[in-house]
Amino acid sequence: GAFFLIRSLRPINQLILDLTDQKLIRQWKTLSVLILSFLIGYLVLGYDLWVHKDNSSFISVMIALVLFLGGTFAFLVGQLALYTANDMKHLALLQQESITDGLTRLKNRRYFDQRLSEEVALSKRYKLPLSLILVDVDYFKKINDVYGHTVGDEVLKNLSNIIMETVRDSDVVARYGGEEIVIITPNTDKKEASLLAVRLREKAEKTVMATVETTQEVVQATISLGVCALSHVILDKEALLEETDQALYLAKKYGRNRVSISSW
Ligand code: GH3
Ligand code: MG
Ligand code: MG
Repeated sequence: GAFFLIRSLRPINQLILDLTDQKLIRQWKTLSVLILSFLIGYLVLGYDLWVHKDNSSFISVMIALVLFLGGTFAFLVGQLALYTANDMKHLALLQQESITDGLTRLKNRRYFDQRLSEEVALSKRYKLPLSLILVDVDYFKKINDVYGHTVGDEVLKNLSNIIMETVRDSDVVARYGGEEIVIITPNTDKKEASLLAVRLREKAEKTVMATVETTQEVVQATISLGVCALSHVILDKEALLEETDQALYLAKKYGRNRVSISSW
């Protein structure tokens, strides 16, 4: 019994270390204290039985049995709680992975599609502005051809980092296609979104995106961006995507390394 009691403290202690919710931590600490008092009770009884060796009454046996079962019970509760907590942690991790792009660690296309639908609905319902920015690396094929695919990947990762450290927490950044990145900017009108796009273009231009390992050659890359917002003309998700793509197409057409803003 005492053995189980001591054993039960270990998973609970582990659980307390893993938990982040203060209320849960407090409650598990309370349980630990209860188990400790159980343990003390056990020691006192053990001492009592040892001192009065002749004391083998029915009551003493019952108390010993109950304390033994109590120890087993506390041990099982602690063990089960730890398993459950581990399962939940694992589940949260899987959920996160299922919406994340492996290379860039941005959100993936599936998550983007879902969020855009939601944000369009919210924007219409509460009459809030909603903008979309589409980013495409200029001459990315050339970067891959000249420096290799690994350097190309490095460029994508660095570009993703630049974008993530520039946008607001409420913005959604996702890998849209191969080297295309899309940004949903909720509660942001076309003018504000354009300012963000310009800032991103400038940052990308100035940043060393990768270094070639063998030659230490510095790799730079520029980006083109298309910006569009919901309006009395652009009414739904499909129109918004199409117009943002059209704006990006014009940014490329007019020479790349620039921001093009939809006039709708
Ligand atoms: P443009 O300025 O017109 O955008 O020219 P571009 O060469 O960038 O043309 P495009 O956007 O069509 O090229 C996309 C290329 O990106 C094709 C593909 O080989 C490359 N690519 C797509 N995904 C990845 C990736 O995950 N890693 C690497 N290294 N390259 C990728
Ligand atoms: Mg490109
Ligand atoms: Mg492209």
